[in-house]
Amino acid sequence: MKRLTGLLTDPIYQEHDTGQHPENSNRLKVILEELQSSDIWDQLEKIPAEKAERSMIELIHDADYIDSIEREIKSGAPFVGTMDCMVCPKTFEVAEQAVGGALNLAKKVESGELKNGFALVRPPGHHAERKQALGFCYFNNIAICAEYLIKHKNYERILIMDFDVHHGNGTQHSFESRKDVFYCSIHENPTVCYPGTGFESEIGYGEGKGYTLNVPMRSFSGDERYLEELHNTFIPAWSKYKPDFVLISAGYDAHKDDPLARINITNETYRAYTRALCDIAAEYSEGKLISFLEGGYNLEVIPGLVHSHIRIQLEAAATLS
Ligand SMILES: [Zn+2]
Repeated sequence: MKRLTGLLTDPIYQEHDTGQHPENSNRLKVILEELQSSDIWDQLEKIPAEKAERSMIELIHDADYIDSIEREIKSGAPFVGTMDCMVCPKTFEVAEQAVGGALNLAKKVESGELKNGFALVRPPGHHAERKQALGFCYFNNIAICAEYLIKHKNYERILIMDFDVHHGNGTQHSFESRKDVFYCSIHENPTVCYPGTGFESEIGYGEGKGYTLNVPMRSFSGDERYLEELHNTFIPAWSKYKPDFVLISAGYDAHKDDPLARINITNETYRAYTRALCDIAAEYSEGKLISFLEGGYNLEVIPGLVHSHIRIQLEAAATLS
C-alpha cells in the first residue's frame, strides 16, 4: 500500500526540555502513544527530522537574530527574548531540526510524492517574529515553509489557516504586505488573550490589503460561533482566494478543557475546520496540505484531537488518488 500522508516525527523533538513548562515534551509523548496504538500509525509515511540549512531559516528570520539566540542558548541562558521562551542547551538544535524536518515534509508534498502531511514538531512557531522569540516559539516553522514554497517552488497563493487559540502574530507580520500568502486566524479576543494582536482591523496593507483575515472570538465562545464563522466567513474567503497550497497552524488550545485560554470548542469543531480545509485543498491545490503542530496543552485531550485531525487528512488523501 502506498502511503499518501506524511507524519514528521523524530525523537529529537522531545529534547527541547525546559522542565515545568506548559509546552513540554510530554505533549509529543502522549500524542505518539495515541497514534502508535491506533490503526492509522501504519498508514503514515514517517518523515524524520533534518537540520535546516541556515539560508532556509533566513527566509523569515534576521541573521543577527539567529546568531544571537544561538549564542545565548549555547552559553546556558535560561530563556531568550521573553521569559516564557525558556531554553535548554539543545533548544537551538531542536528548533533547527523542526524547520528542516518541516521543509523535508513540504518537499515531499510539493513534489506529489505525498498528498498531505502533519508536522508533529516542537518547538512551535507561529509567534516567532523576524527578530524575536515569543510565546514558546523560536523559529516560525510554517512561515518558513510558506516562503520556501513561494521562493523556491514558484507557488503563488498560499493559504495559511491558524486555529490556535492565540493569534499567530509572527506569521501575520511575515506576510501582511503581500498577497501571495493569505493569512487567516480565529483566536480569542486579543484584548484579553496573548499575544494582544489579531484585531479584525488588521487586514494587511499595501499589496497585501485584504489578504489578512482575523476573526477574534469573545471569551467562552463555543462550537456554534466557531462553525458559523467557518461557514459564513472562512470557506467563502478561502474559495475566493483559490490557494495553490494549504498550510494549517494546528493549535488545540481553543478546546474547552485547555488550561491556557477561555474558548470552549470541542473536537466536532476541529474536525469541521480540518475537513473544510482538506476540501479546499482538494478543490484548488491538488490536495496539497500540511498541518503544523502549534499549541494545545491539555495532555488528556490533545492526543485525540491530533489523531482525528490526521485521520481526516488520511481520508482526504485517499479520495485524491
Ligand atoms: Zn496557542
